[in-house]
Amino acid sequence: MQIEVPPPAAGGHHVRPPIRTAVTLPEPSASPAPEASTAAQALAAAGDAESARDVGALDAAARQAAARLGRQKRGLVERLIYGPAPDTAELQSGAAAAQRAGDRGHGVVAAALGCLARGEAFTADGKLSAALRAAVAAERGYGFTVPAEFGGLDGRYVELALVEEDLAANGLGPLAVEISGELTIGAGSLLAYGTDAQKRTFLPLVAEGQLMAFGLTEVGIGVNAKKVRAYVEPDPQLDGGKGGFRLHAAGDRNKLWITNATHGALVGIVARLGKDGKQVGLFVTRLPDHDIARGDQGQDFGFRCESSRTGAFTANHNSRLHFDHYPLRREEQIQADGVEVLFYCLRMGRCMLAAMAAGYQRMFAADAAADAEARDGVGGAVIQHELPRQHLGRMLGGALQSRALSHLSLQQDADGHDLAGLRDLTKSAAATSALESQIACERVLGGRSFDQGSRVHQARANMHVFGVVEGEDDLILMGMVKDVTDAFTSRCMAGMLGVIQSINQGPDGKPLPPDRRLLRLTPWTLFTDPGRLWTATRRLLGTGSFWRLEGWILGNGLIEVLRLPLLLLPTRWIPRYQLLPEGLRRYARFAEQRLRWLRWAWLGINLWFQLELTRAQIPLQRLGKVIEQLVTMLALVHHAAQQDASQQRVAALQCEQLMARVRGTRLLTGLLQMERLRRLVGAVGDDVAHGQSTLLDGIAPEPFAHPFEPRRAKPAKG
Ligand SMILES: Cc1cc2nc3c(=O)[nH]c(=O)nc-3n(C[C@H](O)[C@H](O)[C@H](O)COP(=O)(O)OP(=O)(O)OC[C@H]3O[C@@H](n4cnc5c(N)ncnc54)[C@H](O)[C@@H]3O)c2cc1C
Repeated sequence: MQIEVPPPAAGGHHVRPPIRTAVTLPEPSASPAPEASTAAQALAAAGDAESARDVGALDAAARQAAARLGRQKRGLVERLIYGPAPDTAELQSGAAAAQRAGDRGHGVVAAALGCLARGEAFTADGKLSAALRAAVAAERGYGFTVPAEFGGLDGRYVELALVEEDLAANGLGPLAVEISGELTIGAGSLLAYGTDAQKRTFLPLVAEGQLMAFGLTEVGIGVNAKKVRAYVEPDPQLDGGKGGFRLHAAGDRNKLWITNATHGALVGIVARLGKDGKQVGLFVTRLPDHDIARGDQGQDFGFRCESSRTGAFTANHNSRLHFDHYPLRREEQIQADGVEVLFYCLRMGRCMLAAMAAGYQRMFAADAAADAEARDGVGGAVIQHELPRQHLGRMLGGALQSRALSHLSLQQDADGHDLAGLRDLTKSAAATSALESQIACERVLGGRSFDQGSRVHQARANMHVFGVVEGEDDLILMGMVKDVTDAFTSRCMAGMLGVIQSINQGPDGKPLPPDRRLLRLTPWTLFTDPGRLWTATRRLLGTGSFWRLEGWILGNGLIEVLRLPLLLLPTRWIPRYQLLPEGLRRYARFAEQRLRWLRWAWLGINLWFQLELTRAQIPLQRLGKVIEQLVTMLALVHHAAQQDASQQRVAALQCEQLMARVRGTRLLTGLLQMERLRRLVGAVGDDVAHGQSTLLDGIAPEPFAHPFEPRRAKPAKG
């Protein structure tokens, strides 16, 4: 059956009763459903019902996306920590895949660079030009990974990553952003969740260059994606009585900061099914080619697409979308949870962001190197001096690590491995290094890096926003820790969470008031609450997971003791590292050893913070950063092992700097320091939250951009 995509809205539509999508959310209650994630159970055990619901809902969507992917092979990061260690071929599979990549993307890059060289790529106000889009579309660049049967180039994602990197490296980062949004979250959602009819209808449009956007974020809702407030109601009269939906996304339900959204573009809209419905749906539709005021010429709906006025992605379309009683056809509904689809597609979006970050950092290094060679500093050319060279090394190192992680992640995905953990640290490592490289470039270029016409200056806001889009870095790193330790935590720790929860419940089974809750059992509890400590101890001894944990500690402890003599072996004697270039072996050994030992760091952090860990973000973020830096070192070493000597030198330099950071980050030996830090963060945060931070006295905060309904009014001073 062919679905009609009407030209941008001229007249009204009709709909059949809605089809219920599969996702059901548990009734909000004090304790989440038994299949809820360990994190949600822990939050409930700590009595934080609201977070338990929020996290439970997000985890449920992530689990559904993982189920849809059907990845049976355990993730790389989890195996690097808990074993078995991946072999060298697997660790080098990303570099090998990139070397095998054909030149399918050559035409796309050449067409784009040709446009740039002719000065036609950007409009006078710095936007991507129609000429550039036409040139890229003619090479089917917008349909790079769309199957040939729908008019695409049928390219592989690693080939797309190479195109993305080349575009960003040559000053066309915004075009890379546009194509990535089009193919990862746009076409990607249709390929994975669309019906045959929907694919036949929308994918050829994507392949021919129709822009496609994904609208999740709203004026009132950001990272808490499952709380979207835009909603649809069934309209049986729509579409000549065939039935459909009416979309309501007015005021702070407007969709906000939607990249690639413009009049006439295709868009996937995430909306609640029913105003107070528990389910979140997804609809793919074409936006009208002009704004429509409800009541105008008898129109029974309203639509507006206006610039979101964001200072990032300024060369791209980025819009705020207003829908009022907006008609959606039944066939435009994707039969899936909108947030699940997002999680499904984000893994590719994050790999492409890393590829773009690699390109941007090569661009920074190229422009900084040219200046440093040509420019006299104090005592000779800038390039002669150590610090400018270290900055250049940081830009090149950041580029190489972003490329290595992107290619390794893409190959892991292609080989059927669960990408949990790797997809997140790939994005956060790339976004972090991209920002650091922007600063390193400023340190070499000096004032010229702020010239309005310079591509280094134009990239600045994009480097910052890379840390926010595709998942905010802090949050995804904490999520990464949860994902890669979940199997161990569920098997060996979850039972104990239940015990602590049980001593925090009153006789009616309801959580005790916050001031009476015990989130940690410490030797001090013996004096403050011996009764509950004794109860917990008795219940603990009767819990299977407690003994499983004892067994795990004994078994793994013994293995560590037996492995101790290996620490004395010179690296060159260890076959696993003999396959690597001499200058990189020590970094691979260091990274693998430290990753193994992190199984003890996670255990220690859990035993130390216990249920307090549900709100102790600093230890999670710190552990997440160490995992990110160690996996990055390993990816760098194995990627560079297949490259030329100059890249191996860049990899060694970057690994040396990452190793210094890891050595400077204390986990188990930093527990007391983290306690002290958390107390100070808590105190300053309380001052701010209660209007008692005098440094803020007399300063009126700027009104919010895109005002939203505040959670609650700020308390008056004192
Ligand atoms: C240039 C640009 C392009 C974009 N493109 C798109 C797009 O195409 N489609 C789309 O749907 N969205 C898009 N977005 C939106 C983007 O995804 C959101 O900005 C992002 O999800 C964060 O939401 P927010 O800005 O509303 O932050 P908020 O949700 O208001 O969060 C603010 C900060 O609070 C932190 N925070 C919140 N809860 C916690 C917690 N429990 N613990 C610790 N920290 C917390 C967050 O991490 C964040 O840093 C874009 C945004 C920009 C700027």
